[in-house]
Amino acid sequence: MDIASARTLYGTPVVAGIAYGPVAWAQPAPEPPSEGPEIAPEDRDGEKERFAACADTVSTRLRGRSEATVGTASDILAVAAQFAKDKGWRKAVNKHIDAGVSAPVAAARATEMFADMFRAQGGLMAERVTDLLDMRNRVIAELEGLPEPGIPTPESPVVLLAEDLAPADTAGLDPSLIRAIVTRLGGPTSHTSIIARQLGIPCIVAAREIGEVTDEQMILVDGGDGRIDADPDPAAAEEAASADERAREEAKAWTGPAQTADGEPVQLLANVQDEAGAKRAAASQAQGIGLFRTELSYLNATTEPPVTEQTELYRSVFGSFPDSKIVVRTLDAGSDKPVAFASVPDEDNPALGVRGLRTSGIDQGILLRQLDAIAQAAREHDGPTWIMAPMVATISEARWFAQLAHERDLTAGIMIEVPAAAILIDRFLDEVDFVSIGTNDLTQYVMAADRGNPNLATYTDTWQPAVLSLISRIAASGVTKETPVGVCGEAAADPLLACVFVGMGVTSLSMAVSAIPYVGSKLAKVTKEQCEQAAKAVLGAQDPGEARILAASILDQ
Ligand code: PEP
Ligand code: MG
Repeated sequence: MDIASARTLYGTPVVAGIAYGPVAWAQPAPEPPSEGPEIAPEDRDGEKERFAACADTVSTRLRGRSEATVGTASDILAVAAQFAKDKGWRKAVNKHIDAGVSAPVAAARATEMFADMFRAQGGLMAERVTDLLDMRNRVIAELEGLPEPGIPTPESPVVLLAEDLAPADTAGLDPSLIRAIVTRLGGPTSHTSIIARQLGIPCIVAAREIGEVTDEQMILVDGGDGRIDADPDPAAAEEAASADERAREEAKAWTGPAQTADGEPVQLLANVQDEAGAKRAAASQAQGIGLFRTELSYLNATTEPPVTEQTELYRSVFGSFPDSKIVVRTLDAGSDKPVAFASVPDEDNPALGVRGLRTSGIDQGILLRQLDAIAQAAREHDGPTWIMAPMVATISEARWFAQLAHERDLTAGIMIEVPAAAILIDRFLDEVDFVSIGTNDLTQYVMAADRGNPNLATYTDTWQPAVLSLISRIAASGVTKETPVGVCGEAAADPLLACVFVGMGVTSLSMAVSAIPYVGSKLAKVTKEQCEQAAKAVLGAQDPGEARILAASILDQ
């Protein structure tokens, strides 16, 4: 996206999709007051009336919303509306007011008592506590004259901004009115992310500076790369959002096969980390697994799991693709993925430290046992089992790894993510059966920019011409040597870039399952020749923005 804007911010992208619209901030819940002014005896009846009126307002509002919604959301709102009417609860609040406590404090205290009771009952009642507290917050806000907490109910579509979203907020989420979600807190697995993924709403989390953006300001959100543009050029922003909307509709309709418009097949594979992910992949159009990140299953393990247990994990993943290709990556321990039994703790510079295959320099046994476990599971797998090592930097590492794989009848590959391996690609290809380009790390190391640092997002962009130039050389070398070259970093999930890679000669693309229809439907619309032209054109770009524009001018025709 190359769009002029007043301010560009970044967060962690969670759900791909571009949206443009006015900002609506979710209001934070008021802090339930524990102390308040003492209410004089003669004012207590008035305070009780004030409380009843506010509770009625909240109840009526929630009931109205419940009637305007369907399904679970409607049920949740109806229950909250009922809570605000509940006679027992109101009586408890009035009792506190009779004792001289102000209505907000009385509501807080009475609700806490009910919440404790619900929690003690456990089960379904305990699950209702969140809804009860949500209702309390609304009543307190009403009493204190504060904006209604939670998600706004706009009349026309907005981009929702929030500190974070709570489960109860989800009931009010209407995907036709919420174009995108951006939160200041949260992470890719936080509740916000889970909800957004389920609803298919473009989403960015951990956008630390989003507080600078105010209600009704226009913003453009790209859930694919985590970029947020405040006050962008309106025409360009509208166009970016509607082009994305069209792409989403087309992706929904795409059912395969994975090939260009003129019939050139491209292998589309899935990135997975466990059995559940493999099952999801099998239910998609993925033709196999192109990156099985084995280390992610061991992030909480304190000791190395026995070979039998490891074999079980591999078997469980292979089971989803009994006849298809599976590319297993050996442990990529270290740096941002510390594995207690395989990483060196407290390195000064872990991204440049003992990670990936380098951990074998300290203890080869872990790799050998993992290879044995993979080989065992591979014997029961009818499809091809390929294995690859991460962070390979020297030719002797590649040779050694290939020998270990071949001794176990496994197809041997390496990831190309260290510039040293990219620069000498011809010689590395002589050692192995295939390579897979890890664009996340390759970009980080080529650009000398920490991939996790939001301030460096323009550097850690695979569209950087230096990175594209290296990828082009790797792919060309694969074509000459007739050796498969895949891409398995996040860049493979960018439909435009995926076409560029195909034009360069890349034979397979592996990505998050959710990205497969987008890439598949884009490939289906372009010819191999267009991909080749785009691949050539981007090499002349000065920066990522220009590279995108050049590619789009050829591929979006
Ligand atoms: C990569 O670096 O591109 C890659 C696929 O590996 P990871 O993201 O797991 O480091
Ligand atoms: Mg990597």
